Order: sequence, then structure tokens, then C-alpha cells
Amino acid sequence: MQTDTRYSIFSCMHNGTLQRLFPTAKFDEPLRRYTAWKIGGPADALLEPRSIEELVAALETARANGIPTTVLGGGTNVLVRDGGIRGLTIRLAKVLNNVEISENRVVADAGVLYPALANATAGRGLAGLEFATGIPGTVGGAVYMNAGAYGGETVDVLAWADIYRDGRVERMANAELDLSYRHSILHEHPDWTVLRAGYVLKPGDAEELKARIRKFRMQRMNGSPSKPSCGSTFKRPPGDFPGRVIEAAGLKGTRIGQIEVSPVHANYLVNHGGGAADDALKLIELVRETVREKLGIELEQEVRVVGEP
Ligand SMILES: Cc1cc2nc3c(=O)[nH]c(=O)nc-3n(C[C@H](O)[C@H](O)[C@H](O)COP(=O)(O)OP(=O)(O)OC[C@H]3O[C@@H](n4cnc5c(N)ncnc54)[C@H](O)[C@@H]3O)c2cc1C
Repeated sequence: MQTDTRYSIFSCMHNGTLQRLFPTAKFDEPLRRYTAWKIGGPADALLEPRSIEELVAALETARANGIPTTVLGGGTNVLVRDGGIRGLTIRLAKVLNNVEISENRVVADAGVLYPALANATAGRGLAGLEFATGIPGTVGGAVYMNAGAYGGETVDVLAWADIYRDGRVERMANAELDLSYRHSILHEHPDWTVLRAGYVLKPGDAEELKARIRKFRMQRMNGSPSKPSCGSTFKRPPGDFPGRVIEAAGLKGTRIGQIEVSPVHANYLVNHGGGAADDALKLIELVRETVREKLGIELEQEVRVVGEP
């Protein structure tokens, strides 16, 4: 209750400025509507730019006025805390949607959904992005996370990414992005934004590639919980799988509030409806501590936590 009061006083002070600078944004917008986990407090201002030009203009305005900015793609790998996000939140999924394909080269805006890109490239007989069918986030989020599945990773096919950094746009090559298991250089630079990405793919047979995608989708449908989650909560510990170790620690079905260690796949913490970020964070900590105590294994979080407590 006290936190709510403090929040409303703070946002009254700032909303006038935000409304003047970003008139097309939504204000005090609940972010649970925009995250896969269906969790998250309000954004002071939420902007969904329709073009790269609009995105860059918003980033420049925020920078010039000292407004903190958080960029979300599809919200499929974030835990937005219950106090929400101060300043400007920019969401790119689906609105920044352009894809250009020329021979074996593909350029996709940061908001393009990865499964859609997998379909588009396979349909054109271009091989390499079939793994992306199982990853519900965006091109920008996939660069940030070096997203991967079924033995493929973004690093294998990405040629470059256009990054807005320090007030300018720079094309950074794959090798400069420091891509490794669920990591990129962007983790060390929270103010950098992926605008678009370029991929180099290999020629393939469209029907075979589409069949491969269908096979991956079937595997996913059979092994994943259906309730809202952020997918894998923890990264793979060396030589093991987080789902296996969490299950071995006896944690399947453990619940705090509306958040539960899924009985279907223990690395998924599912939201039974109306779940709070605070409960998700407590459950993450409980899982980490129990696995450490019982098995001596240190689990590292894959999900990114943003916003205020
Ligand atoms: C059911 C389910 C299954 C999943 N399966 C997989 C899987 O198989 N493999 C896998 O790797 N991941 C998986 N994920 C996790 C997630 O989809 C990926 O990490 C994805 O790459 C995140 O993309 P996003 O656009 O949703 O990013 P968000 O969740 O919106 O953001 C994640 C981080 O990236 C940053 N970010 C996003 N866009 C930009 C941008 N344009 N510029 C700068 N920073 C940006 C955000 O600030 C945040 O820190 C799964 C998630 C779910 C819910």
C-alpha cells in the first residue's frame, strides 16, 4: 500500500514531461499485458514505434532529456517487477516488422518474431533459422540473448546487428557482439538497442525445411507447460540440465503464491493467474538455494529482471 502511494506521487511528477515528449505513448500501462509470464507492474510510458526512424527519434529524445529507457522485444524472457518501469519503456514486438530477403541474405527489424522469421526464410528455401521456430521472442531479443534451440543458436547465422549506442547507429559484426551461451555484449551495455539484424543463410529445400520446422514444433508442444512462463528460468549448469537438477532436488510442484515449479518441466516456473513478480523472485531464490544445498550445483538465472520492486 505504501509502495503504491509513493509510486503515484513519483509518476504524477514525471508523467507531464513524458506526455509532452512522447505524446503517442500509453501511460501507466500494466506490463503484465506485454510479458509471456503475464507478470509486471506499470510502465510510466509505453511506446510502440512503427518504424526504425520513430524508434531512433524516441531514443534520442529520451537521451537528450535524461529519461531512463528500457527496451522490450516480446517480453518472453523478462520478469518485470511489481513496481513497474520508470521512465520510457519501448516495446518492439510485431510493430517493427519489416523483413527483406535478397538471395541468401536476410535483414529483419528488431521487432520481427523469431518463429515468423523461421517460416519466412524456410519458405524461401533458405536454411539455418529453423531452430528459431521454438523461440517466441523477437529478433532484437534473440541478439541480446543469443537465443537458440535444437542445437542451433543465433550466433551460427547472424552476420551483423545495427545497434543504437551512445547517440549513434553502428553496424556491429557477429564477432564484435561477443555472443556465447545466452549472452551478448549487450548484457554489459543496458543502454544499447538492437534496431535490426542481418543473417546469412544457406540454400536448402523449402519443403524439407518446413518439415523440419513442423517436427521441432511437435517436440515443443509435447514437452512444454501450457501455462504462462518465461520458458527456461535457469541456464544449463555445466554438463547437466536445469530441469533435471531441479526435479532431482524434489522441487517439482513447489508453489509460492500463484507461481509454481511446473510438474511438466521443472525449469519452467508457471503463473496460475494473477501471479506477482515478488513471488516469482522468492521461488527462483528457493529453487537456487535448495539445489545448492542438496546437490552442490549453482544455478544461474536465464530470465532478465527489470523494473522496480
Ligand atoms: C515458452 C517459452 C519458450 C522459450 N524457449 C526458448 C528457447 O528454446 N531458446 C531460447 O533461447 N529462449 C527461449 N525462450 C526465451 C525467450 O523467448 C528468448 O530469450 C528470446 O530471445 C527473448 O526475446 P524477447 O524479444 O522476448 O526479449 P524480451 O524478453 O523482451 O527481453 C529480453 C532481454 O533482451 C533485451 N532486449 C529485447 N529486445 C531488445 C532490443 N531490440 N535491443 C536491446 N535489448 C533488447 C531486454 O531489455 C531484456 O533484457 C522461451 C521463452 C518462452 C516464454
